[in-house]
Amino acid sequence: MLETTVAGSLPKPAWLAKPRMLWAPWQLAGEELAEAKRDATLLALKQQEDAGIDIVTDGEQSRQHFVHGFLEQIEGVDFGRRVTMGIRNNRYEALVPTVTGQLQRKGSVHAVEAGIARAHTKRQLKFTLPGPMTIVDTIADTYYGDNVRLAMAFAGLLNDEARELAAIGVDVIQFDEPAFNVYAEAVMEWGIAALHRAIEGLACKTAVHICYGYGIKANIDWKASLGAEWRQYEAIFPALAASRIDQVSVECAAAKVPIELLGLLAGKDVLLGAIDVASERVEKPDEVAATIERALSFVPAERLFPCTNCGMAPMGREAAVGKLAGLAAGAALVRGRLAGRPD
Ligand code: ZN
Repeated sequence: MLETTVAGSLPKPAWLAKPRMLWAPWQLAGEELAEAKRDATLLALKQQEDAGIDIVTDGEQSRQHFVHGFLEQIEGVDFGRRVTMGIRNNRYEALVPTVTGQLQRKGSVHAVEAGIARAHTKRQLKFTLPGPMTIVDTIADTYYGDNVRLAMAFAGLLNDEARELAAIGVDVIQFDEPAFNVYAEAVMEWGIAALHRAIEGLACKTAVHICYGYGIKANIDWKASLGAEWRQYEAIFPALAASRIDQVSVECAAAKVPIELLGLLAGKDVLLGAIDVASERVEKPDEVAATIERALSFVPAERLFPCTNCGMAPMGREAAVGKLAGLAAGAALVRGRLAGRPD
């Protein structure tokens, strides 16, 4: 009960990629880079295990960015034609590649790191992939000419990839959809349908992660403009509750999300963001416990999984490791209290 997990990414060691930035350039190339990615994956697993995290990830050590790591292995995506584009409804600008032809996987994208992770941990393993809507929002297109067709094409490729990951022994496959918090109408029109295409025939558990973004300035400024109550989740939770996705990962730490909105996810597992990734201050177990206990009024304990708000990729390593330990300790506190043990 109250098994802990992380949204996905962890900071990379400085010998692998430039620290404290998104889209951080690699420090190595060729076989040296491949070896460093393998080493970093093992470290990420060990750090999570030592901290007491129950459902671990590869820390996304093998990809430069959570969306572009997948796109790099897709035929029809031209990284030679990168353009600067406003993304997440023009919240910030990103240099994105262009779809210039029929999309096709060149082969497995993440099988290597998933296989390494599976071989080196006995804990439950979660693996993250970008969601179709978020991919469409993070790429330029001169070929499909229609967001829905483009999303469905990506969803088909994601499904092929996800089936391979499940066959490797991944327990949970999570699709990251920060764009769901920006385009509520499109979520209902085609976002969830695209997710359903992506999870077709999957025997493992499936999850979707919806957040207010990494702890970068553009996101912090955006959050400051959202007013006293953040009600973006309210528009999409009922549709997610009716969907075939098993788990929904949400941001609740240091967030102005009214906690009662979690009640709209009845029947789903809730991965509860109880760790803020926009600040390097390490949460105390009591703070984490308080967030979990607020959520327990709206989500039964057997459906609640304490988690981080979002990926930790751009953070300092020491803070990230401290936060993982705080997360596990906070969950342990609540488990003890529920079992009638004093703190
Ligand atoms: Zn996120």
